[in-house]
Amino acid sequence: MSVTLDLSRPAPAATSPVNLAGLTRAELAGALVEAGVVKPEKARMRASQLWRWIHHYGLTDFAAMTDVAKETRAALAQTFTLARPEVVERQVSKDGTRKWLIRTAPGVEIETVYIPDVGRAGALCVSSQVGCTLNCTFCHTGTQALVRNLTAAEIVAQVQIARDDLSEWPSPKEDRRLSNIVFMGMGEPLYNLDNVAAAIDIIADGEGIAISRRRITVSTSGVVSQLTALGEKTQAMLAISLHATNDPLRDVLVPLNRKHPIADLMAAIRAYPGLSNARRVTFEYVMLKDVNDSPAEARALVQLLKGIPAKINLIPFNPWPGTQYECSDWATIETFAAVLNKAGYASPIRTPRGRDILAACGQLKSESEKLRASARRKLATA
Ligand code: SAH
Ligand code: SF4
Repeated sequence: MSVTLDLSRPAPAATSPVNLAGLTRAELAGALVEAGVVKPEKARMRASQLWRWIHHYGLTDFAAMTDVAKETRAALAQTFTLARPEVVERQVSKDGTRKWLIRTAPGVEIETVYIPDVGRAGALCVSSQVGCTLNCTFCHTGTQALVRNLTAAEIVAQVQIARDDLSEWPSPKEDRRLSNIVFMGMGEPLYNLDNVAAAIDIIADGEGIAISRRRITVSTSGVVSQLTALGEKTQAMLAISLHATNDPLRDVLVPLNRKHPIADLMAAIRAYPGLSNARRVTFEYVMLKDVNDSPAEARALVQLLKGIPAKINLIPFNPWPGTQYECSDWATIETFAAVLNKAGYASPIRTPRGRDILAACGQLKSESEKLRASARRKLATA
């Protein structure tokens, strides 16, 4: 059983057509039969055929499916849709980072960020929830009220929209610009595990988008009870937002720690399915000035990770209006990194990307929401 919170809004009106682009293979076959478009004995074959058009070629129009009979295409178009959600805003940073504000339903807006030169070629940072319930004190997303969990379709749509924008259809075998997926956008993916797992099944399918599970990383603040299920259901790479090496401090930074203290978290990580030197856990550590950035804490981190196949990502804190924290000085971060390097962990500082378009870690959605609100206020007073 997963700890999925019941955050769903009322389902879309029964009259709105089902979007086939967000269904798993089994759901796709089921939908075709249920709608009477395909006979049960032909369902798997027809679903495979459609799957390639939708997920390998990225089609959004049934009419272009040239090997499907005309009458079937018409029947499909009458009953279903392949339309993408609306891209409300698209921004490109001077460092090449791209950010899309996507409206998936009235009042439901999420942000997705593409970061070039991360991972093998470029990584897409996807959101799993609108907002977050966990209130980590350094994270802006945590100060927003949660609207709801995203559906699998809404998670997959973020990848499809990035692929549209990067002109990566049909799904290229080599030289991809979008090579990695990281669940590091808005939300806590392990509070929405069923939908995250279904989305990963779709994204990783070899006859479609085909991003291998080894290139998909799920980041969690430490929902210990769901770690094994994550590994078993998704075989995704694991990232842990650690940020502190002792419970009193982590209790403050990541309040979920009060429920799942560090010792329990480390035990669950050691048991993560498939962990090996080739499949290491990434530990994320946000650098907060005079809070968690001393050399003693770097040494404590090395001690804590002993025996775990691990990589460390030091994340310079991205400030936001009203925060009580500051980013550590560069020299302090380098000293911290040097301790880790000496212990055998390579190049761990994550350069902030896309700060000029508010696309960096912890800046998502909230800022654009605020900017739009201030624009609205200006209009109102004009
Ligand atoms: N909820 C999940 C995934 C989304 S957060 C998690 O917490 O792991 C993605 C990463 O950005 C996390 O490591 C988070 O701690 C970090 N982060 C959040 N706010 C930040 C900020 N203001 N500056 C730098 N990193 C931040
Ligand atoms: Fe939620 Fe992650 Fe932000 Fe914590 S760091 S509030 S878990 S999005």
